[in-house]
Amino acid sequence: MIFQGRWHATSYALSLKDSSLSVAINGDYILVCDLAGRLYSVYQAGRHQRRSLSGQVLQKWTPPVGTTTERQRRWFTQAEVDLLLDEAARHFRQLHAALPTPAWEWVTPPDRASALDELLHVIERAGRFDSGRARADAARFAKVYSPIGILPPDQYLALVLQATTGCSFNTCTFCDLYHQPFRVKTPAEFRRHLHEVREYLGASILLRQRSIFLGAANALAIPLPRLLPLLEIIQEELRPSPQPLSLEGRGTRSGGEVYAFLDAFTGTRKSVENYRALAERGLRRVYIGLESGHDPLLEFVRKPGHARDAIETVQAIKAAGINIGLIVLIGLGGERFAAGHAADTIAVLNQLHLDTGDLLYFSDLVEEPGAPYPVLAAQLGIRALTAPERAAQRNTLRSGLRPSGVKISNYDVREFVY
Ligand code: SF4
Repeated sequence: MIFQGRWHATSYALSLKDSSLSVAINGDYILVCDLAGRLYSVYQAGRHQRRSLSGQVLQKWTPPVGTTTERQRRWFTQAEVDLLLDEAARHFRQLHAALPTPAWEWVTPPDRASALDELLHVIERAGRFDSGRARADAARFAKVYSPIGILPPDQYLALVLQATTGCSFNTCTFCDLYHQPFRVKTPAEFRRHLHEVREYLGASILLRQRSIFLGAANALAIPLPRLLPLLEIIQEELRPSPQPLSLEGRGTRSGGEVYAFLDAFTGTRKSVENYRALAERGLRRVYIGLESGHDPLLEFVRKPGHARDAIETVQAIKAAGINIGLIVLIGLGGERFAAGHAADTIAVLNQLHLDTGDLLYFSDLVEEPGAPYPVLAAQLGIRALTAPERAAQRNTLRSGLRPSGVKISNYDVREFVY
């Protein structure tokens, strides 16, 4: 429901949902916060700003027609972040002060007094979330979480729980996501982490509990006897509460559904029975970075295992009734590997029998300056694919796939914000 009001010459449209509040001021400045008052996004003058819990802000915009068709993005400097937060907090404070005054005029008022109370409560919290508060909040986030490297796009609003830190391989030359050594938390540590996450998020949890994402890089690589107790803790702690959802973040609606990454190589070490045991404890989709079906390319980028491992792993997971999210890297190996990459990836994808419950992501290779790939590719004289060549590779892959009902989407890792 959208409530509309006016204050002097300013018009407001307020939308209070069960996970967020959005405030549109004069129709062209839109502030969104979660129910704890943490600023979530700001839209202004055709540019969209998304704040992460870690305190960074990514700005995205589409340039005018005729300049460049590529969507643009950049990370704000700390000074810009502070300015954005202080401006947003000032608007929330102004709104909070205006609402009870005679100068405020409702056009579409809240339908009940309790809705107005809830509205005021969230606006008041958002008004206090200025740059100082946000910096302190980001510092607290960094104590509760290790850096969250990446999530699949359909999990950007998941509740992340970190069962591991780092990646058990850390060998892939294109990847610069994980810098900590791989470590599995004990059940006691994991339970403590879950409690800390819940306490830290408070009412913000209502925006981030469509699902639970078990981090980090390849959490499902944990051997089964150590993994099952961790999933059981999730079910004990987060199964749907009989209590109604509240502004304090009590209650949950995620249903304890768990999603996680797995590398295809380690995935072969678990049987169909093992995956069934994981499904019984809430595992619903496993995301695998296939990257390519072309073994020479996997070897070149030092991805552990072979395409055959991905086929075996996916078959076992699907036989256990768990869905798959598969990621293919567009442009990996540049023009040198392009033909083999496309042909072998199509061949592998067509053996996986992905269907309507599965997701297939095409993700453009981003050459991270901190990763070895750009240097190794340059040493071999490998030319990166141009944007039209990457688009052609995506089309080749799409047209080579047998119809299966799998949902195919693009996945731009540069847009990831948690
Ligand atoms: S791509 Fe995946 S398996 Fe490879 S280093 Fe990165 S996180 Fe680890």
